[in-house]
Amino acid sequence: MNVFKKIYARIYQFCFKLAIPFLPYKSPKIINLNELNEILKKEKINNLFIITDETISKLIDNILNQININYVIYDKVLPNPTIKNIEEARENYLDKNCDGILAIGGGSVIDSAKILGARIVKPHKSIKKMEGLLHILKKLPPLIAIPTTAGTGSEVTLAAVITDEKTNHKFPINDFCLIPKYTMFLPELTINLPKFLTATTGMDALTHAIEAYIGNSTTKKTKNMAIQATKLIVNNIKICYNEPTNIKARENMLYASHYAGIAFTISYVGYIHAIAHSLGGKYKIPHGLANAVILPIILEIYGKKIYKKLAILAREAGIAQKNTTDEIASKIFIDWIYKTNEVFNIPKYIKEIKNADIIEMANYANHEANPLYPVPKLYDKNELVKIYYIIRGQNE
Ligand SMILES: [Zn+2]
Repeated sequence: MNVFKKIYARIYQFCFKLAIPFLPYKSPKIINLNELNEILKKEKINNLFIITDETISKLIDNILNQININYVIYDKVLPNPTIKNIEEARENYLDKNCDGILAIGGGSVIDSAKILGARIVKPHKSIKKMEGLLHILKKLPPLIAIPTTAGTGSEVTLAAVITDEKTNHKFPINDFCLIPKYTMFLPELTINLPKFLTATTGMDALTHAIEAYIGNSTTKKTKNMAIQATKLIVNNIKICYNEPTNIKARENMLYASHYAGIAFTISYVGYIHAIAHSLGGKYKIPHGLANAVILPIILEIYGKKIYKKLAILAREAGIAQKNTTDEIASKIFIDWIYKTNEVFNIPKYIKEIKNADIIEMANYANHEANPLYPVPKLYDKNELVKIYYIIRGQNE
């Protein structure tokens, strides 16, 4: 990247960093199932709207038995939720006079709950008009989120993604008011998740923690969150994969995903995510899988620029000895990621990448990441093009 663009990007990122302490960011309160009725009462909820999907709705009897107020269940959320989906949920919500939302599911369900909440408080604003940043700016009905995958951290982020089924356009809605007010971790809901998804969603959480940590916009809090998340993931992800019913390991992964979510919501992600999004858009490569493959490759490309930070994570997670040099510790961590991917049968490269698509995807990643993401090293479009070839497993 040329020097003027670099200076511009760094100043831009620095201004965003200065703004961090003034942002109205509030993490959800972590509650347990025994407190649920108390919270419903405190929030003056009389008719609870439970939003979930068909697979999860079969597993929630334990939660339903606890609830001592009226509730309705909407379990039609799709893996890629659509505007029609949310509008249908909204009709149900209004029809039953609901006044609070309980979301139980993965990222799609929690995202849908956020957008539903936004539509309830903004009856005259279409979902399409909410695209982008800060178009809601209004307190949502009380929202309690129970994540059933450990990866996206959606229960703690200010983002929601939705697809316009008419145009196939997938777009993000970002607003501080979308952050759920409460969250709850019920690891027993995650034990049926297929092994490969357990692995890739967990690697997504690891990518959140690492990208936030090696970026330039960390705070004391986000550094700490990223370290905690990395420690938990390194020590639990393989256990979840090999012993899916290990509740303690499952619970640790839910916390890890949550902490990583806090870290990246405040301190951003980087090129790994920007590239993964482009591959998701072009070839529908699942987000966690794309991140898992790209993560060690980009960390290697960053090279010595990130040795120090990566070494801290490696030592904190216990995969490098305290007395190893930064370079060695950081290489041990990258190697750990490659080997863990191998255990999970995650490929080393993304072979689906076609030469003809690379420039378009590099453009997309460049627009997403530059100048916003406070990445450790800046790359322009041409440099990103080269990186796509490496991710594909071949030189240009
Ligand atoms: Zn992610």
